[in-house]
Amino acid sequence: MSMVTQNLQNIYQSILKAEKYSNREPDCVTLIAVSKTFGIDDIRPALEAGHRVFGENRVQESQSKWPQLKEEYPDAELHLIGPLQSNKAKEAVGLFDVIHTIDREKIASAIAREIQAQQKPLQLFVQVNTGLEPQKAGIAPDKAIEFVQRCRNTHNLDICGLMCIPPFEENPGPHFALLAKLAQQASVDGLSMGMSADYETAIKFGATHVRVGSAIFGTRDKI
Ligand SMILES: *Cc1c(COP(=O)(O)O)cnc(C)c1O
Repeated sequence: MSMVTQNLQNIYQSILKAEKYSNREPDCVTLIAVSKTFGIDDIRPALEAGHRVFGENRVQESQSKWPQLKEEYPDAELHLIGPLQSNKAKEAVGLFDVIHTIDREKIASAIAREIQAQQKPLQLFVQVNTGLEPQKAGIAPDKAIEFVQRCRNTHNLDICGLMCIPPFEENPGPHFALLAKLAQQASVDGLSMGMSADYETAIKFGATHVRVGSAIFGTRDKI
């Protein structure tokens, strides 16, 4: 069994355990295997092991890997988890099935236009900058509910949930709790939160999607 396959098995087990601990249904949490910086040959063992849900943070990098992988595995589901420029909206809507990083008016309208043009419905999450970090993407928490409503009403977008990346050096629990509260207030069910270091915690706070990279594929070279 490859390292990646072994890692995936271990993470499936810990997710099941965290679901059980939190009195949640087994398999209610979607594991997004974050394959950014890894090449096709690193990703393929995960597909061969039966995993189908993957995350990437750059449109251009994904275009060099996923058209080929999707041809081999047409049921693979690709999530964009990195910041999006509006001039990449066309490519993003063409390649991805889910986008987690809707965070401003300009992106919402560019994505809405492309969904219409390509007649390709996507699942969308609004990214919230729960730590109000200046270098981080995401809408401010106090603007999030109104923004979700505007995405729905003005842009006719199907917003299915909220996403956050807590500040690296902080305890993530309060950030996960804030995101869960905002999602409830905005009437969305999806919660994209939790990474390699804290996905079990995120599940206890209600995560529906965890984004796990290095615990599956190994440490990344710094880029
Ligand atoms: C890279 C990345 C992840 C995965 O991070 P790991 O710590 O390797 O699990 C999750 N979410 C986002 C937005 C990322 O960019």
